[in-house]
Amino acid sequence: MSFELPPLPYNHSALEPYISANTLNFHYDRHHAGYVNNLNRLATDTEWENAELVQVITSANGPIFNNAAQIWNHTFYWGSMSPGGGGAPSGSIASAIENSFGSYDEFRNQFAAAATSLFGSGWTWLVANENDGLEIMSTTNADLPLLHSRKPLLVTDVWEHAYYLDYQNARPAYVEAFLDHLINWEFATQNLASS
Ligand code: MN
Repeated sequence: MSFELPPLPYNHSALEPYISANTLNFHYDRHHAGYVNNLNRLATDTEWENAELVQVITSANGPIFNNAAQIWNHTFYWGSMSPGGGGAPSGSIASAIENSFGSYDEFRNQFAAAATSLFGSGWTWLVANENDGLEIMSTTNADLPLLHSRKPLLVTDVWEHAYYLDYQNARPAYVEAFLDHLINWEFATQNLASS
């Protein structure tokens, strides 16, 4: 048994013009696939060789944790986007955002500020806490909400490799495109409803 690269849920040009096929060629086929290859190599002949990915994430550290968590985070990131996504949501996720942030605009402002100001490499998430309140959470490197008793609803990748080919150093423009044109609110709604 080995760890596998989950399929990209759309074709490489589906997120254009906001994220290019060129970016996905590198980000999915090189970076995401690279974490899978690394984990398969590192886990060989260890207690994690036949483990589930989440088991690895919750019990390993160092390079094995980093590669396992990055596999999970990237799969979740691809799910967090869809062609024609973004903008204000409707339905249960809209109500949950209004209850926790006051308004969609306030959520948008806070998410953009968190993703833009996160220093170095990491991820900015919309999560649900143990009381079903929604929060914005930033994690560094490969860290993820699972290790902080939070349920992730959606995520954006703010490692430079996620946006540098399309936006160079303009991370705020990438974050705005994610918010306004890419968020898969159906994915977030399903995650909110899951136990
Ligand atoms: Mn990435």
